[in-house]
Amino acid sequence: TATPSSTPSAAPASEALFARARAVTPGGVNSPVRAFAAVGGSPRFITSAKGAWLTDADGNEMVDLICSWGPMLLGHAHPEVQAAVQAAVARGTSYGAPTVPEVELAEEIVARAPVEKVRFTSSGTEASMSAIRLARGFTGRDVVVKFAGCYHGHVDALLASAGSGLATFAVPGTPGVPASATELTLVLPYNDREAVTAVFAEHGDRIACLVTEASPGNMGVVPPEPGFNEFLSRTCAEHGALFVSDEVMTGFRASRQGYWGIDGAVEGWTPDLVVMGKVMGGGFPAAAFGGRADVMARLAPEGPVYQAGTLSGNPVATTAGLTTLRLATDEVYDHLTKAGEVVKAGVTDALDAAGVAHAVQSAGTMFSVFLTEGPVRDFAEASRTDAGAYAAFFHAMLDRGVYLPPSAYESWFLSAAHDDRAIQTILDALPDAARAAAA
Ligand code: PLP
Repeated sequence: TATPSSTPSAAPASEALFARARAVTPGGVNSPVRAFAAVGGSPRFITSAKGAWLTDADGNEMVDLICSWGPMLLGHAHPEVQAAVQAAVARGTSYGAPTVPEVELAEEIVARAPVEKVRFTSSGTEASMSAIRLARGFTGRDVVVKFAGCYHGHVDALLASAGSGLATFAVPGTPGVPASATELTLVLPYNDREAVTAVFAEHGDRIACLVTEASPGNMGVVPPEPGFNEFLSRTCAEHGALFVSDEVMTGFRASRQGYWGIDGAVEGWTPDLVVMGKVMGGGFPAAAFGGRADVMARLAPEGPVYQAGTLSGNPVATTAGLTTLRLATDEVYDHLTKAGEVVKAGVTDALDAAGVAHAVQSAGTMFSVFLTEGPVRDFAEASRTDAGAYAAFFHAMLDRGVYLPPSAYESWFLSAAHDDRAIQTILDALPDAARAAAA
């Protein structure tokens, strides 16, 4: 067993594990951002977590500001989620046949989100891939519009970069994606109404759907300008295209009803399809897409558009998600709001005092910190973040027991378990970290 080291910056056990991992896994990790490539140093191997705290292989304890990149809304190892999952496991872990928890989770989601029917998958990637297939099958059209800086999982057609002009089709965003996979994708700057209007004017009758993060969190938090989502929804409707809102990150986190609870529910519009994941899986591999009953009716076995999954609606994963959503009460969102305000004020004060340019941006209870002058409205502006200053900030926080996202372009996640002690640990670390960022 590991003995706690004097400072979280000492991580020999993690370093040894990283060397072992690299021998058998590309880059030593199973998802690239975990490797600390953007901030340098060796990633921590986490051995356990409880509430707001992570423990690494060296016995270092750190306040977690990633929360598994969003899912752990209630904090780690929540006793009621744990008990429900243990009871589910005792009943067997997968049958490949319908079960009660998937019906109950679907009912819970339909009650909260702007969807009439829902289909489960095992990852957000699968859910967005399936939503796009359904949109194409429903409309009989092929073209998909997305925004630069929005991430919808590693779907070939969406790993795309803008072509040479606004209305020209995209090019592959990574080796391994053939040009044919992105030649029906259009990539636009976020928050740019004119660009949207222009591509719909030119290609409107070929566009199956526009897909957007309900409020982008994958280039840092870049909220839609007031009315932007409503404008997108209306533009899609005018051209017979579907509006696909990706709430994988914001769903059941930005608010009780996701980001839609902040704009659509207030303004009175609904997306045609919604992609979901993270919180609704309670820390297990569960995701979903859902939407209008007439669109969802095109999905097999009711309709002709094929979609399937061996572990889709898995009883353990749906039990974890269902228990999490049932416990995600208004008090949880109030707590996230208040804790977020305290952390954001602490960050602002520390960076102001150290003279570091920054923009703290929010979308409901989600927020992130850009080390550049704000406001940040799109991917080009987000890219101005000082990644070197962030790396120094990140490591200074880590040394003081706070685990931030190991990339400057990510949102920070709190949980219901971030209590006064956890928040105080963050606040105590900030002034030194801000000075490190300034150096
Ligand atoms: N959509 C959004 C908005 C996401 O943030 C993510 C993951 O971070 C995905 C889709 C993909 O989900 P997954 O990683 O479960 O495939």
